[in-house]
Amino acid sequence: MGDLQDSVEKYLENNPQFAKEYYDKKVRVEVITAAFRENLDIKDPSSYKDVSQIQEATIIFDLIKELQTEEAMEKSMHKVLQRICLLVNADRCSYFVVRARNGIPELATCLFDVTPTSKYETNLVNPLAEIVFPTDVGIVGLLATSKKGVNVPDVKQVGGTIRLVQLFFLLSLFNKYLNFASVVALQHYTKYMWNVESRRSQVLLWSASKVFEELTDIERQFHKALYTVRTYLQCERYSVGLLDMTKEKEFYDEWPVKLGDVEPYKGPKTPDGREVNFYKIIDYLLEAKEEIKVIPGPPADHWALVSGLPTYVAENAFICNMMNVAADDYFAFQKAAVDETGFIIKNVLSLPIVNKKEEVVGVATFFNRKDGKPFDEQDEQITEALTQFLGWSVLNCDTYDKLNKTEWKKEIAQEMVMYQTRASLAEVQEILEKFDMDPEDCDQKEMYKLLRANIPEAKDVDLLEFHFSDFPLSEFDLIKCGIRCFFELGVVEKFKVPAEILTRWMYTVRKGYRDITYHNWRHGFNVGQTMFCLLQTGRLRKYYSDLDAFAMVAAAFCHDIDHRGTNNLYQTNAAPLAKLHGSSILERHHLEYSKTLMAEENLNIFQNLQKRQFETVQHLHDVCIIATDLALYFKKRTMFQKIVDATEPMPDEKEAIAYVSNNPTRKEIIMAMMMTGCDLSAITKPWEVQSKVALMVAAEFWEQGDLERNVLQQEPIPMMDRNKSDELPKMQCGFIDFVCSFVYKEFSRFHKEITPMFDGLNNNRAHWKELADVYQAKLDAIANEKKKLEEAENKKGLFYTHFFS
Ligand SMILES: [Zn+2]
Repeated sequence: MGDLQDSVEKYLENNPQFAKEYYDKKVRVEVITAAFRENLDIKDPSSYKDVSQIQEATIIFDLIKELQTEEAMEKSMHKVLQRICLLVNADRCSYFVVRARNGIPELATCLFDVTPTSKYETNLVNPLAEIVFPTDVGIVGLLATSKKGVNVPDVKQVGGTIRLVQLFFLLSLFNKYLNFASVVALQHYTKYMWNVESRRSQVLLWSASKVFEELTDIERQFHKALYTVRTYLQCERYSVGLLDMTKEKEFYDEWPVKLGDVEPYKGPKTPDGREVNFYKIIDYLLEAKEEIKVIPGPPADHWALVSGLPTYVAENAFICNMMNVAADDYFAFQKAAVDETGFIIKNVLSLPIVNKKEEVVGVATFFNRKDGKPFDEQDEQITEALTQFLGWSVLNCDTYDKLNKTEWKKEIAQEMVMYQTRASLAEVQEILEKFDMDPEDCDQKEMYKLLRANIPEAKDVDLLEFHFSDFPLSEFDLIKCGIRCFFELGVVEKFKVPAEILTRWMYTVRKGYRDITYHNWRHGFNVGQTMFCLLQTGRLRKYYSDLDAFAMVAAAFCHDIDHRGTNNLYQTNAAPLAKLHGSSILERHHLEYSKTLMAEENLNIFQNLQKRQFETVQHLHDVCIIATDLALYFKKRTMFQKIVDATEPMPDEKEAIAYVSNNPTRKEIIMAMMMTGCDLSAITKPWEVQSKVALMVAAEFWEQGDLERNVLQQEPIPMMDRNKSDELPKMQCGFIDFVCSFVYKEFSRFHKEITPMFDGLNNNRAHWKELADVYQAKLDAIANEKKKLEEAENKKGLFYTHFFS
């Protein structure tokens, strides 16, 4: 045998051509034979030990075939590993995947303890049970970072328990067989990346087209983009929380904090300093039947918020990719089903939506990747691209909004020029006779004398009376009366308001009011006059400086300027743009308008003030005009009542004055309540006045009701429904009881000088009640009549039934 072997060896060495041909032929035969075999049927691997050399080609061919299959990567990899195990005579081997989350690479078990005979299902690691460890730990970690194979002959030496372990990194060259594993993995990876790329481009394409399509309404825009991309995101649910963008709170929302009634906000803040407040949540539930839910003012325990993750993301502007959240103890994710659908949160990817100004405008959170795996780096990239688009779209809205506001201002200015809203010289001369244009020729003292001579005395027109009525006066007379108020306050001389500027301003304010049924110049004037009266006759002036009083009366005259006869609700329904401006839409417009007047040199009654004084005036205009939004009245009620409660037992007037005037917040709250008292003052006027004014208010409401019915195709509320006009007395009683009564009752408790207003109110209440009762009696009578008729009919019916039966 030895001899034969030697001679064969020698022969082959001397005839390499023959040797090559022989093996080529021989191997090909083996390979072809193997190719026709269905399976590689390995029953006992140990028996193959000696024949492994012969089996090699078969096994390799089998592996090549595996590359062609369309099966899941894990399944292919499993087969590859089984064969590798066999070839290298390993007991078992495992497959770890390298991926990155949150920018940190990590290793995760994918196939565990694969032996040549083990089942795929038992080796495949459930994504929820996978073991994850960083790449700088252990042998596997070392492999992943070094990308070189390691052969540990006896793991006992390195502290392991298995006798022999072959470890490898998928892209490394451990030995020639491992290349197959690498190819399987690489092929899978390429396919996956292609899929990622195509999804990414689709996501970008869709969001781009949708984002720029809709420019007016930010939420609709977000929704459109998010809804369109839903199939590409491949997750079971996602939820978008929109953050409140107000940096500075409205002055009235600061009051409770400034008064110490409410603790200052100590919760999380966005990086640019805003309170983290999700004012709206849009949930996309895609796991079963597609469902989208919009939740305004979501509760803190809303399923998508309760974990605290979106808040954390809003606070830090980090991307957070969390796997197996049930095991997480930093965030309080619900472990059980989040709702009745039985949905359980497994993996979560949460991203901030950041606009170009680097402000976090919202947080998008994605739940459970559809294939059950954790979100990976690619998911992070796709969703980041999407949230970036959403962030940019916000900027578009902002720009649009700003553009629109400037347009609005321009519009007001243009209107004033075009429609000659600004008082002309001739008009100014109607009041300020013999006034000529050149200011240098005008001695202000002379001018004041001239002006005073041409306007009525306060006592002649009851200017200082709460029961003042504008009915006997013309609209032109009211302009003069307005000027008189400022002289009475003593602010004209003190703040050096040029006579012709005051005249022009007052005339222009009058012209700024439209010729509508109720919210016209007469209403504007009445509110200014009541403010003047509260300060002087009601003695509320003692809490305020002359400058305050000046600004308050001026703001009161302007408070409804350019009113269009429809209320905020109608504006919100009719113009989607109005939603962008938030609350108090109309009031903000009146405010804008009055500030436009201040910005004009020859209309600015505050032109001779110092900068700080002017800023005070502007702020008081904000407070006074916005305060007339009745929606805010309910916010300030209790705060006002507390001030009244506190000052009532004070025996010394000085104490009360100090209590109020040393505290700017209390001053503002009273001021805001005074504005409400002025705005509603018609309800306190003598019955002859109130009964007529109430009809005017009603008529304007009915006009809006008609608009709602005809233009918006909505049923108006009873108050605005002219078909329910008979119910006016009853509605007036309700209005008095629920809104007005508190105001005048508290004011007369605060200052007894204001009691005439409360008396007037009660007198009107009695009148309305009487009318309501009369109407009710009429209704009752009709109902009675009807009942009698029905009874009669019934009797008749009974009679006939009886007769024919
Ligand atoms: Zn008003």
